[in-house]
Amino acid sequence: MTKYRVQVDAEKCIGCAQCYVACANKVFAIINKKSVPKNPDACVGCRACIVKCPTNAITVMPRDIYAAYARFYGS
Ligand code: SF4
Ligand code: SF4
Repeated sequence: MTKYRVQVDAEKCIGCAQCYVACANKVFAIINKKSVPKNPDACVGCRACIVKCPTNAITVMPRDIYAAYARFYGS
């Protein structure tokens, strides 16, 4: 089970590929000019992608925290 949940808000993503370049673990692919977290199992939670994204399109959350959050607020 992957440790982190990586999400890209496609509405916010402008396809600049900064996240693709920043991620040393090759989590992202750029598909149809949008970033897609194709390889979330490789995420180590370093947040480099979040820092680089100009539109705040990326969310990286530890799975256990996400699960608790989803239980509380709904997913
Ligand atoms: S948090 Fe780090 S390892 Fe995870 S997707 Fe972003 S840059 Fe890659
Ligand atoms: S850095 Fe942000 S805006 Fe640029 S491709 Fe990645 S998710 Fe999209």
